[in-house]
Amino acid sequence: MKNNDSSMNFENKVIPEAILKEVQIALSHYPDLRETPIEFRFKKKIRKSFMQAQPKFSGLFKDKKNRSYLIMISESFHIENEEFQISEIPSEVLIGWIGHELGHIMDYQERSGLNLLLFGIKYLTSSGFIKEAERAADTFAVNHGMGNYILATKDFIINHAHLSQLYKDRIKRLYLSPDEILNLVEKLHFPEGQL
Ligand SMILES: [Zn+2]
Repeated sequence: MKNNDSSMNFENKVIPEAILKEVQIALSHYPDLRETPIEFRFKKKIRKSFMQAQPKFSGLFKDKKNRSYLIMISESFHIENEEFQISEIPSEVLIGWIGHELGHIMDYQERSGLNLLLFGIKYLTSSGFIKEAERAADTFAVNHGMGNYILATKDFIINHAHLSQLYKDRIKRLYLSPDEILNLVEKLHFPEGQL
């Protein structure tokens, strides 16, 4: 497993120090993931999202128990024209976002290697499938007691986008993940050239 000076290496988790506290709180809601190797890694930029969870390809066809996962985290992210550095994002918002990503990993864990490959393809090609996958991740987070954090994450996005009150109310009512909300915001403001 790769490591560097600014990361803490636990038995099976690699966590950058800047988000150590938030990751620990989110992980405490998922005792099922205690044995699961997960690396949290900062990236300069992730296309169209702030965080992204995926299985490590090298372990894709290993026994499910031995599979390891990567959660990539963008060093900054945009909502409309505003750019946020990770240090400017409130703790509970980060915890909610990490909890959502851990929800994806819970979902991945049940799947075979082949199923995960198909999952990746469908995620790229079907917006209906994205919705399903995002709902699954949020549902895991909410069922693991992270509902308030998930709401904090959504509120943060909504309150930093220049949306009409009507639209904000609708988003809050609908069961949407942080990823979906960010995508909707982008679509509203940059309707051209979307998937
Ligand atoms: Zn997601």
